[in-house]
Amino acid sequence: MPNRRPPETPAPADAAARRAVPPVICYPDTTLPHPAEDMLAGARSGLVLRDSVTVPPREARCFRARAGQVIRIRSIEGPQVGDLNLWNAADLSERFYSGKTRALHGTHVTTGDRLWSSFPSLRPMATVVRDTLDWYGIDSFGAAVHDVIGTRCDPYTHALLSDGGQYHHCCHSNLTRALAAGTGLPAAEAERHVHDVLNVFMCTGFSRGTGQYIMKASPVRPGDHIDLLAEIDLLGALSACPGGDCGAEHSSDTAPCHPLLVEVFDCALTADWTPPPVNAYDRSHGTG
Ligand SMILES: [Zn+2]
Repeated sequence: MPNRRPPETPAPADAAARRAVPPVICYPDTTLPHPAEDMLAGARSGLVLRDSVTVPPREARCFRARAGQVIRIRSIEGPQVGDLNLWNAADLSERFYSGKTRALHGTHVTTGDRLWSSFPSLRPMATVVRDTLDWYGIDSFGAAVHDVIGTRCDPYTHALLSDGGQYHHCCHSNLTRALAAGTGLPAAEAERHVHDVLNVFMCTGFSRGTGQYIMKASPVRPGDHIDLLAEIDLLGALSACPGGDCGAEHSSDTAPCHPLLVEVFDCALTADWTPPPVNAYDRSHGTG
């Protein structure tokens, strides 16, 4: 672990035995409500394009999808990573919960995984219904695509790591400007609603030796897409990350960047879709 101090505490006599305890899955797949196969099939049939938004490089744009519509995020022109925020269109306080999605499904999402909302709603906001990069799996570096482990590139970390450098096209700032434009909120208020993202098309993991966050050039190519079934009415914002394919760096204007396309479709499920209820916990927290 080159970045960490060497241990000061001697290992106990039974260190090997303690390390050898096998792990268990925190949230086994079997305990989660899974989307039914007919839901995936319905979300893939009868697609009728209703709206499309092009996200320029190093910028973000908002889009809206009604419950039961399908959001397609598509690579066009060249490899590009996108940082996605999602909100309940009627209540911005219900927003995508990257950390709980990670705990429930794993570090990266693909077809059949759900994007869960924040407390107290904790319900599926969207379900991944198609992922043309599902072939990638987990590579020999431990990296995979569409992570919920990164947060978003942001100007505060950039300033921290660059002796006060100012950069205004990090995904955090792009999402802030897009949400302000999409809602009419002042930028300072919009910023408070920006949250940890789904890193669409980004290829990431943790270094096996040091546990550090790693990224590598995304395997995405023009034509690839990830499709999300909106389970509730959604306001979304997508940033075309200044890192481009995120193979080298971000928070700068040096990486080649490309636009992304967001398309919103009706599908076979749209007309009769019933949004999932909010979470069943009574919120009394033991206070009687
Ligand atoms: Zn970014």
